[in-house]
This record gives sequence, C-alpha cells and structure tokens, in this order.
Amino acid sequence: MAKPTLPQVSTIADLRHAVSAARQQKQSIHFVPTMGALHPGHASLIEQAHAAGRFVVVSIFVNPSQFGPKEDLAKYPRTLAKDIEMCQAAGADLVYTPTEHEVYPRGVPTASQAWPSTFVEVPGISDTFEGAIRPGHFRGVATIVLKLFNQCGADVAYFGQKDAQQVAVLRSMVHDLDVPTKLVICPTKREADGLAMSSRNVYLSPVNRQNATVIYKALSDAKLRVKEGEKNVTILKALMKEMLDVVPGCQRDYVDIVHAMTYQPMQQIEPESLAIVAARFAHTRLIDNMFLHPGTRVS
Ligand code: AMP
Repeated sequence: MAKPTLPQVSTIADLRHAVSAARQQKQSIHFVPTMGALHPGHASLIEQAHAAGRFVVVSIFVNPSQFGPKEDLAKYPRTLAKDIEMCQAAGADLVYTPTEHEVYPRGVPTASQAWPSTFVEVPGISDTFEGAIRPGHFRGVATIVLKLFNQCGADVAYFGQKDAQQVAVLRSMVHDLDVPTKLVICPTKREADGLAMSSRNVYLSPVNRQNATVIYKALSDAKLRVKEGEKNVTILKALMKEMLDVVPGCQRDYVDIVHAMTYQPMQQIEPESLAIVAARFAHTRLIDNMFLHPGTRVS
C-alpha cells in the first residue's frame, strides 16, 4: 500500500490546528527547524525526533533575518520537493513551510536593517566568532527560533551540534526567557572522510572538497593530543592552525578552543572545551567543531 503523503501546512492557523489535533491524541510536539536543502545531517535530527515516538513537525523556512547584506539570500539552495520526500522518509508527521509574509507580516527584516518588529538578542555569545563575522546573524536566528517555537508549541526541539555557537545562543535564550521547550542536541553527521555534512559542500570544487577534509583532521588531531595528555591550549591551537595553513586554498577565519556554553576562550582543557574552526575554500565557508575532552559525548 502506498504511504499517505506527508501533510504540509503554510499558515500559523493551519499549523496550530494540526498540532492541536495531535495534542488531542495525547501526543507531545517534537520540532525540527530547518532552512531546507536537506541532507542526511538534517535527516538525522528528524530520525531522532521520530524515534522518540511523538508528533514530529519539520519547518522549512529560509529565514531572511539571519542573512547579512553580503550574504546572498537569493542564492540559498531551495529544493522543496526533494526536502519533503526526505522529511517523509525520516519520519516527519507534518511539514510547515510558511511564507516570509506569514512569518514577518510587519516587514521582512535583514540582519543589518532596523527591525520593524520585536526581536530577541542574546548578548555576549552572539558577538564573537560567527557573530563577529556575521553581525546580526544570531539576532535573526534567536528571533525566528522563538517565533517558530511559539507558532508550533514545541515541547522538544532538535538542533545539530554542527552549529555549536547557534546551540550556545539558543540554550542561553531558552534559559533566560524561561522558554518551556526542551532542546535536544544531535551529533554532527559526517561524510565518510569526516567532512561535516553541509548544504554548502556542493559548492566546493573537487580539489577543495578533498582539501576541506583538513578541518576534520585538525579537530581530530587536537582531540587525540588531548587524549595523549596535552593540556596546553596554546599548543593545541597552534597545531590545528599549522595543519590548516599547509593546505592549498584553505583560508582560516578562526581556530579556537572555547567553553561550549559561553563561547569564552578557555585556558585549559575541561569537559566543556570545544575546538572550533571556520575556514574558507574559494567562496565556500565551512564551520566545524569538536569536543576535546575524552569524556564528552556529543561531537
Ligand atoms: P539549517 O537548515 O542549516 O538551518 O540546519 C537545520 C538544523 O540542522 C540545524 O540545527 C543544524 O545544526 C542541523 N545540521 C546541519 N548540518 C548538520 C550535520 N551535518 N549534522 C547534524 N545536524 C546538522
């Protein structure tokens, strides 16, 4: 028998209607927010939500308010038909695909422009690393995530460790604003050679695709050194930088070791020590991270 097609809604009213029907069946709402262009990394989040045996809502919305003026929102890959197939295969129960007007009826903000509506700002964590390179990015992320939580009434929401600074920002928001949604952080899904899966990987030339594996190698090497007893953060950072710098075409934006919750640089290795890397290969910018302490689970 053919599988029934996955229900899709595009308005807040229809979303709430579907969610309240699920609640009447005593289902809790497990939510996976995405910007589409789905790959197995996204699917792993949906699969984990599905495994919890609850009602799984996936949103697909390319959020303009987290794009900077130099970041090309129009060029962001949009593959809706394929995305919906992937959502269905991974076990979603409902796909939510709102329009920009549905989400921002008072005008569509961008990361740089004054907001026509209320926004959420998480100071400190939002201003360093990705936030320093992409001013306003995390304000856009925090605001859309809180809006989506409120729209669907998420009990549990799934995010990827791949975007570790986003995780830190959202944990902080949920804590500070008493948001009743529980966050579940899922491990980074990688290609066979270790490269973190990303919708941007398709833009790498074959040579750069090969060379980009240095990011995973540098992170893994740092983790191995810690296991072997190296505790000096300066030495570990220097080793990672050296590995990146000898690879042709690799331009690093940052390499650091921070506390995963606060994103403050760390002086010594502890369970929350997270090595973070951002590097560019031609026009493609990649980020990745790894917990360095042997006892830390998610990486
Ligand atoms: P995006 O569509 O890029 O906003 O990503 C949606 C969610 O998928 C975010 O929580 C990401 O952290 C997560 N994600 C992206 N890539 C991966 C990956 N390789 N492994 C696990 N989660 C991922």
